[in-house]
Order: sequence, then structure tokens, then C-alpha cells
Amino acid sequence: MTAPNKDSSEFDLVILGGGPAGYTAAIKGALQGFKVAVVEKARIGGACINRGCIPTKALWGTALELERLKHLKKHGIAIDGKISFDFGVAIDRQFGIIDQMVSTIRGRMERLGVKVFQASAKVLSKEPFKIAITADEGFRTELTARFLFVATGSRPSETDVLKADHEHILTTDDIVLMRELPDTLTIVGGGVVACEFASILSKFGVRIHLLEHSNQVLSAMDPEIVQLLMQRFSKEGIRIHLHSKVAKVEVREDGEQAVKLHLDVQNKTETLLTDKVLLAIGRKPNSDDLGLETIGVQTTPRGHILVDDRLETHCRGLYAGGDVVGGQMLAHKAWYDAGIAVGAMCGSEAKTDYNTVPGAIFTIPEMASVGLQPDQARQKGINVAIGKFFYAENSQAMCIGETEGLVKAVVDRDTGRVVGCTMIGHDASNLISEVALAMSAGLTANDIAETIHPHPTLSEMVWESFLDTQGLSVHKQ
Ligand SMILES: Cc1cc2nc3c(=O)[nH]c(=O)nc-3n(C[C@H](O)[C@H](O)[C@H](O)COP(=O)(O)OP(=O)(O)OC[C@H]3O[C@@H](n4cnc5c(N)ncnc54)[C@H](O)[C@@H]3O)c2cc1C
Repeated sequence: MTAPNKDSSEFDLVILGGGPAGYTAAIKGALQGFKVAVVEKARIGGACINRGCIPTKALWGTALELERLKHLKKHGIAIDGKISFDFGVAIDRQFGIIDQMVSTIRGRMERLGVKVFQASAKVLSKEPFKIAITADEGFRTELTARFLFVATGSRPSETDVLKADHEHILTTDDIVLMRELPDTLTIVGGGVVACEFASILSKFGVRIHLLEHSNQVLSAMDPEIVQLLMQRFSKEGIRIHLHSKVAKVEVREDGEQAVKLHLDVQNKTETLLTDKVLLAIGRKPNSDDLGLETIGVQTTPRGHILVDDRLETHCRGLYAGGDVVGGQMLAHKAWYDAGIAVGAMCGSEAKTDYNTVPGAIFTIPEMASVGLQPDQARQKGINVAIGKFFYAENSQAMCIGETEGLVKAVVDRDTGRVVGCTMIGHDASNLISEVALAMSAGLTANDIAETIHPHPTLSEMVWESFLDTQGLSVHKQ
């Protein structure tokens, strides 16, 4: 890295972190005419592209191909000879996709004149902001900025009992780099990431145990939808252990099933032997060691940076967004935050509204939701109407052989407003966008019902489920 001269070290906007929040803020800032610098200590793309969304979804793509092989016979397709699977090839494909995405984003930033420093950043002072940046090779310099956007993301959580050794006890960062599959993997945690890895890796032949301390995995999701996933997991041989907490972890030097987990299962002690353990117990914000306390930025007890509804901190001109401010830890929420923060820097009055952030879970079959689940809506005093439409009733689902799943619509009976939707089944992650749009535009079930949907498509199920909130579905059995 070459030392910048004074002029090249002064920016309108300096961004700490080059993940989805950071790179989006950089692109949006540059499009507004700001002189922008991004300081990223690892690789542009952040957790999403390098260790999260993209590596997992590349492997999910491979798992889907393996899943489709099961259906070939029904179509009259026979493959003579043995079908084999080379995990190494799948991993190389995954890295290829990551590299392509990183290079696209870097190229976009370069063309817009965004300066990228590969270095660690620490804030020194404010008015104007001074930021010390230190590269691996010991190079150190300072940047100044009118605005600062902190987008340093998050890292995998660990506890005193559940500590990664990165060989037997892995974080999600380790597992996406894995070149060889274990025979048995025990996943600690029953959230989105845990269920995705369980689903994907079981397709590759890994025997999965999943430990969840409460009475349901994916505790924020509609239990009826989760039940359908559990039936599928059970068919695939994925063992779900509910009410199970890890009390102690013992790792033998080597050999098969090197890890012995001591479990507390409703006050009884059980043990489980496994080759590897994946910790999927949440993520911790990267807000420490950034020098933020020295300029009056406050954090929550869990370390999330405190921001107002325009994402400005207590320190004027310093904004934060993405995982580091908490809330839904999703890449598209991080993109959204970047837009709100850069807008605020440019004088926009737009405020954050997270009520219509959709979520997708890339299990097989996939799941997606937006807005409120029926119980959440009832707790808010909404007079709920529910509509359901099963994949087995949809013509395209039959034609493509994807008849497992359900779309469940939630409407405010008094106003007709769309308040939420949850679904499980093929392409749910794409189908949910229509409902997100309806919700952010404040539309009603009638608006969806009166919209002409193409036939035969899976999107008809969204239409049918909202018709069903009034008992008006056409193709329901
Ligand atoms: C396994 C997994 C799967 C996921 N799948 C999905 C998915 O399918 N869909 C989805 O929407 N979300 C998914 N996520 C979540 C998603 O990855 C995050 O919500 C998203 O990356 C957050 O973006 P961010 O910009 O806030 O932070 P990050 O992506 O974490 O980026 C922060 C960046 O800041 C850098 N940084 C930190 N400290 C400093 C410093 N002091 N100086 C300089 N740079 C610094 C880091 O190196 C990092 O590159 C997944 C996450 C995981 C772990």
C-alpha cells in the first residue's frame, strides 16, 4: 500500500468494513458525488460473499442438483452407470462464484472512483473524523472524513463451553472452507444457519445431529410450516435433539468420533459422539476495538452500536448499519441500511422501517417469510384471517414434481391489509418478494387477488392463498 498524500487522504465519506452494508454505502455515496474510501481488513464482500450467503448457497445449489436426481425416474430418465459426487469440485465451484462476485463489486467501486484500503481501521477523533488505518505489513496512515459509516459486521459467537478449536469444533467461517466432509456432524443451534447446513450437508451424505435447547427449531417461524420441515428432516435421517444443551465438550487427540459432547437433556445427562461440531449459536457484533467509545458512540450490552431511526449514532455525522447495529442479520437488510444512512447524509428524512424485511431459509425445501406470523399478529391485537394453499394443489408444482409445501397468508380481517406470509416449498425465496412489495405498498388481500398472475406458475399460490383468506380460492382441493 502506498502512502496517500494529504489530498488523497481527505474524503467526504469513509466506510469501515466492505461487506454488504459497506460496499453498498460506498456505491450509493459515490453515485451522490461523494469522495468515498472503504477500509476493509479482509476481503471486499464481507461475511455474505466470502463466508456466509454465497458459499452456503453455492453448496445449496449443488445439494439441489443431487436432490433432483431422485426425480429423474418419474420423468422416464435413466442414467446408466454409477453417479458419483466429488465434494472438492463443488467447493472449487463455490470459490469460483465468490471470486466472480468480489471482482464485480470491486470493479463497480473502482469505476465510481471509490478508494479501497485493505487495512484495519480505528477511529481517533471527530470533527472532522480522523481514522487510523493499519495494513498487515505494518503500514499506517490517517484518513479524514466529513461522514463516517461503520459497517464492520459480526463474527460467530462462542461461549466458555462452546469454543472453536477450528479443527474439531468449527464455526461457520471454518465449515465453508472445509475440503473434506466428516461422517458425522453435530450442529449446535436450531436457527436459520443451523438448519441450512443440516439440510445441505445431509444431502452430501453427512450424518447430522442438531441440538436445540428449546422446544422448536426456527423458533420465530410459524410452527405449522416448521413441522413440514421437520417431517422432511426426519425422512432425510437428520436427528433433531430438542431441549438439549451442551454442558461439556471433550476432544480426543484424533481418530473417528473424536468429540464427546455431554448434554443436559431436561435435567438428564446424555452423551453424543461425533466427528465434528459446528457452532451455530449466533453472531457477535464487531464494535469493539474501533475506538468508538473515545468519540461518544454508545453500544448496547450485547455490543450493537446504538443508532436512531436514520442510523445516526450519538456522535453527529457518524452512522452505522448492517449486522453491527443488530436487528435482522441479513445481507439485504444491510443493503437497506446503507441506503438509509447515505440518504440521511444527503439530507433525506427517510427513516428505517424493518416491518417488511423478507427472510429466506435455504433448506430443502426452502422457506421464506415476511411480516407477522399468525400468532405474532394475534398478539398485536390484529383480527387475523389466514389463507392457505398447498403446493400439491398447484399445476406448475405438479409439472415440475415439486409438490411438497405450503403458502400461508396472514391478513387483517378488519382492514383487508396484508400483514404477513410464510411459506415452505420450491422457490419460496423468490415467491416471497411479491408479498414484501404488497406490504411495503400497504396493499390489501384484494389487491393481490385482483392482480393477474401468469399460469401455470408457482406465483399462483401467492394469489390463491390471499384469495383463501376470504374463502375464495379457485383451485383449492
Ligand atoms: C453461514 C451464513 C449464511 C448466511 N446466509 C445468508 C443469506 O442467505 N441471506 C442473507 O441475507 N444473509 C445471510 N447471512 C447473513 C449475512 O452474511 C450478513 O447479514 C451480512 O454479511 C451483513 O453484512 P455487513 O456488511 O453488516 O457485515 P459483514 O458482511 O460482516 O462485513 C463486515 C466487514 O467489515 C470488516 N471489518 C470488521 N472490522 C474491521 C475493521 N476494524 N477495519 C476494517 N474492516 C473491518 C470485516 O472484515 C467484514 O468484511 C449469512 C451469514 C452466515 C454466517
